Order: sequence, then structure tokens, then C-alpha cells
Amino acid sequence: MTAMKIGVLAMQGAFAEHIEILRQVGVEGIQVRLPRDLAGISGLILPGGESTTMRKLIDRWGLREPIRRLIDGGTPVLGTCAGMILLSRHIVDGDEPVFPVLDMDIKRNAFGRQLDSFEADLAVPLLGERPVHGVFIRAPVVERVGAKVDVLGRLDDGRIVAVRERNVIATAFHPELAGETRFHRLLATMASDHDEPGEGTERRHHPLRRDGGGRVSSEPVGRDATGAGGWAAS
Ligand code: GLN
Repeated sequence: MTAMKIGVLAMQGAFAEHIEILRQVGVEGIQVRLPRDLAGISGLILPGGESTTMRKLIDRWGLREPIRRLIDGGTPVLGTCAGMILLSRHIVDGDEPVFPVLDMDIKRNAFGRQLDSFEADLAVPLLGERPVHGVFIRAPVVERVGAKVDVLGRLDDGRIVAVRERNVIATAFHPELAGETRFHRLLATMASDHDEPGEGTERRHHPLRRDGGGRVSSEPVGRDATGAGGWAAS
């Protein structure tokens, strides 16, 4: 996993914090500003910021098409806060979608002036028992999800703030500002699976499969020239 690179859109917001969390989970974070920065990355993070500014820069920097191609090709993506807005198919109150890949309605600045920013612990069962500490900063909220969207986390009042659909994970809050590493670990796991499909299953490596072509040898294990003969020797 140490060789894996994950891109972080580096326009504004907390991209440095994302790169630091990636470092903590053993992944190299690559700042993405130009289309060529996307070459060789196994996953991508769209950080928080101001989604209206980010959408302008995404177009100005020529990133809309190449990022869309990556997502459509199955590269895992994590969007946090404004990043979640950029990944939503329908933005309530008018803005055009940018990467309309998450089948859901998202409302920007959903917590109003009183609660411009706040912190909350949420249960995210996919990530284990320990609650996720979420930092919400002028955060959006998910108002509707389609049938293919997995809800990963909700606030106590039931509002949806973390989701996953196919290769895309998104949170309304900032895990990176609370030192939370588990979303980045999940992204890295999805990214390594995308890089090497079948890892950990019989499709990739099987002790009886010596020619790499799917033909199963009936040679006795003891004559295995590869030296991997320990398996099944009895
Ligand atoms: N309020 C911002 C927006 O609507 C998102 C805030 C954030 O990313 N922390 O784009």
C-alpha cells in the first residue's frame, strides 16, 4: 500500500489536512491542480471549501471531463462537505450539478446561521463501533437518497450526513479536521481493490494455478518447481 498515490484536489479548503491523514494511513497524497496531476492516482479526494468557487476552478483548470472519466471508470472518490455537493446529482435551490454521480438531493448550508459550525459524534457502523467525530462547517445535508445509495451515517435527528454509492463516498462533515482516519483507510482499501481486482480471492492467486492462465495442474505438489509446495503436502 505504500506505493499507492491518492490525488487531493488542491484549490482551497482543507487539502493539506487530507494529505496529512493520507500520510498517517500510509498513502502518498498528490496535489491535483492540472489534468496531468491525475495520472497514476488510485483514488481522489474532493475536499471542502466553497462549492461555487470550486466549480469555477474545476472548469478553468480543465478538470471536469478528466475527473468525470476517472469516476465513471470506477476510481474511488471521497468528497467531504463542498466535495459532497460537487458529487451530488441534484443540488436543492438551483445550482447545476458538477459531477452528478450520487443519486441524491443535497441542500447547501443546511444548518443556518445559528449553527454555522458545530461538532457531533455519529454512528457509522461500516467503520466500526467507535463513533465518528464530525466537524461541520457551513455544512450541507442530504435530503433524499436514491435506492442505490447506502446511507453510512446520520445525525441524532436522523438527517443523512455520510453516504456511499458504488465507488463514491461522501460526508457532509470534515473527518480530516478531527484526525479521523477511517474514511481515508476505506478509500485506500477501495483504491487498492480497484487497482488489483480480486485481491484476497481465488481469482488472483491460487496455489494450484501455476501457469497463470487458469489451468489447474494435477502435478503432485512435491514436484512444484516454484517451491510453493507446502500447501496440501501431507
Ligand atoms: N458551504 C459550503 C458550500 O456550500 C461548503 C462548506 C465546506 O465545505 N466546509 O459550498
